[in-house]
Amino acid sequence: MKYPDIKTALPGPEASRLIAIDSAHVSPSYTRVYPLVAQKGEGLWIEDVDGNTFLDFTAGVAVCSTGHCHPRVVEAIKEQAEQLLHMSGTDFYYTPQIKLAEKLGAVLPGDSAKKVYFGNSGAEAVEAAFKLARWHTRRELNIAFFGAFHGRTMGALSLTASKSQQKKHYHPFVPGITHIPYAYCYRCPYGGCYPNCGIECVHWIEDTLFRATMSPEEVAAVFVEPIQGEGGYIVPPPEFHRELRRITEKWGILYVADEVQSGMGRTGKMTAMEHFGVEPDIIALAKGIASGLPLGAMVAGSAIMDWEAGSHASTFGGNPLSCQAALATIDLLEGELMANANAQGARFIEGLKELQKLYECIGDVRGKGLMIGVELVKDRTTKERAGEWRNDVIRRAFQKGLLLLGCGENTIRLCPALTVSREEIDVCLSMLAEILKEVAG
Ligand code: PLP
Repeated sequence: MKYPDIKTALPGPEASRLIAIDSAHVSPSYTRVYPLVAQKGEGLWIEDVDGNTFLDFTAGVAVCSTGHCHPRVVEAIKEQAEQLLHMSGTDFYYTPQIKLAEKLGAVLPGDSAKKVYFGNSGAEAVEAAFKLARWHTRRELNIAFFGAFHGRTMGALSLTASKSQQKKHYHPFVPGITHIPYAYCYRCPYGGCYPNCGIECVHWIEDTLFRATMSPEEVAAVFVEPIQGEGGYIVPPPEFHRELRRITEKWGILYVADEVQSGMGRTGKMTAMEHFGVEPDIIALAKGIASGLPLGAMVAGSAIMDWEAGSHASTFGGNPLSCQAALATIDLLEGELMANANAQGARFIEGLKELQKLYECIGDVRGKGLMIGVELVKDRTTKERAGEWRNDVIRRAFQKGLLLLGCGENTIRLCPALTVSREEIDVCLSMLAEILKEVAG
């Protein structure tokens, strides 16, 4: 069994030297929670600039879905790099972008014909969805959810309601967006208890919102993460998306699924929405789509993507290297990785539920496939959030060589590469047990 190997105090001498230069020259707006300076990666393993080896359960924030530097992805990029680096899909045609659009149309759910708009990031995919929804419906209002993260450009940030820090000093935002509570059953915002709640969180839209402040005929789209990501890896109950879809269909409102974090095999299906049996009108994809190369895709039914030439574009969007990396990624997902995400994800959740029996501070374990959240609380009855403990767990894990991230206020986010092995999950579980004992035992 391979374990992390930490040879220096952390950060090591070379990492400390580089971080000092970074502080002088790089934007201070980033949110580094511990001082990892990565040098190279293979599978789930990252070596830093001082030769320390870490086990990565972040996958570069749910991006390196096929593991770091998967040989087939690297090969696809190398081959493309010798052919064509850039030509701009905005003004010209090239094969990788065409092939990827065709492939995405085939692997995404639903039988209807689809078209793809290519950008470079999650925010750009959401931004494109936002504009297309306005274009197609000629309506001005939109609904999004508290806890949602849709990106940091002004349109996507206007839809975001995750942390007020992300919006501080940037007002005013795009008008016409109403945020409503998400289906966070562990802390039901309506005080209900699933399954006896009648899915109040959805019915409230028609019963209150549409009666009091919003005419449904003026709503262009509902933007929703199938499973909330940055908000805390929150899995809604099965009826949530189905009921929401029913309402949007009734009023001619577009259903935009932000699958930037949950999509591309992360939950064991190509899109997380497939777990809920709902076919959205528009899907935003990025992160895991190209195993680490920058790519965003906004996919819509062909009848919906009816904007005209010149209405939206991006110089770098759909770069040939990124498209080839995405084609190789999809091949790997279909070949074995979605199945592995299902199998290992189930084992991982089982192992975490065992830990929950031992550690009172684990209030909730939830997830699908390899998108798993562990919510820490000070008290299981009051559910007082243990945000400081969560941060302490993450910092201690780093010192021991396990890379983790948080999400929400007090949740540990577990999103390893979909190549993760049984042994790597066992190492993570035993390290987590040791750290939880230190922090809250
Ligand atoms: N949408 C979701 C659900 C996300 O999780 C993120 C990033 O975390 C984004 C959009 C924004 O993606 P990017 O950082 O690539 O712009």
